[in-house]
Amino acid sequence: MQATLTFLGSGTSMGVPTLGCDCAVCTSTDPRNRRTRPSVRVEYDGHTVLIDTGPDFHAQALREGVRRVDAVFYTHGHVDHVLGMDDLRPLTFRNQGNLPLYADDATADVLERIFEYTFRAEDRYPTSARVEIHRLDPTPGTAVELFGAKFQRIPVSHGRQEITGYRFGAAAYLTDMSDIPPASVPLLQNLDILILDALRREPHPSHSHLAKSIAIVEQLKPRRAFFTHMSHDLDHAGTEATLPPNIRLAYDGLQLHFEIA
Ligand SMILES: [Zn+2]
Ligand SMILES: [Zn+2]
Ligand SMILES: [Zn+2]
Repeated sequence: MQATLTFLGSGTSMGVPTLGCDCAVCTSTDPRNRRTRPSVRVEYDGHTVLIDTGPDFHAQALREGVRRVDAVFYTHGHVDHVLGMDDLRPLTFRNQGNLPLYADDATADVLERIFEYTFRAEDRYPTSARVEIHRLDPTPGTAVELFGAKFQRIPVSHGRQEITGYRFGAAAYLTDMSDIPPASVPLLQNLDILILDALRREPHPSHSHLAKSIAIVEQLKPRRAFFTHMSHDLDHAGTEATLPPNIRLAYDGLQLHFEIA
């Protein structure tokens, strides 16, 4: 089954342009240097699945014509990945039942805290999003089957925190990743598409940087790799020119096609 992945956003938590910055990337006229907060849409067999809903979700959904959402998978509870959850409201009103949100325990706890009025058992705000949280089994590789495709939980290190990456068919999305634990490596073999965090050129305590992500691609050997969660340190054209042809930088609106099942 063919699927299409769209980058709703490809930027780091601060977004690019970064507020108050006049650097060459932040003032660039190349639209690929305008990076909203990171998230992807996966479409297959008439269904739409999101990974994360960041603070730019409303604008991203308008830009990409998101008219329905059937499920959302969350990577972790940082605001650049969860804050747009409330913007799902009008889309959830059009669904039959509650929209399923899949999250590990730590992320589910954050969602329930930030959006307390949505999840409280009594005296729930009447026009809250019609969503329900499904807590993921923490075992690496455990899969949720949705509309004929499997979404596998791939644990990754985000600094000292363990968060959730996902593999779905021949593609994997590993954002906010500083290291790939040994137990996750066997789950990332034979990939067509590997999407990796590559924040900037210099090392960072909780994000992979350009050279490290290139080394991970060389280790895992996907057919194609795309870097995301990028800061204003990486000019799109200038950085891509230094990369091997199988590694590209993502940009907002980029679409990729792959086999999901
Ligand atoms: Zn992030
Ligand atoms: Zn800048
Ligand atoms: Zn994060």
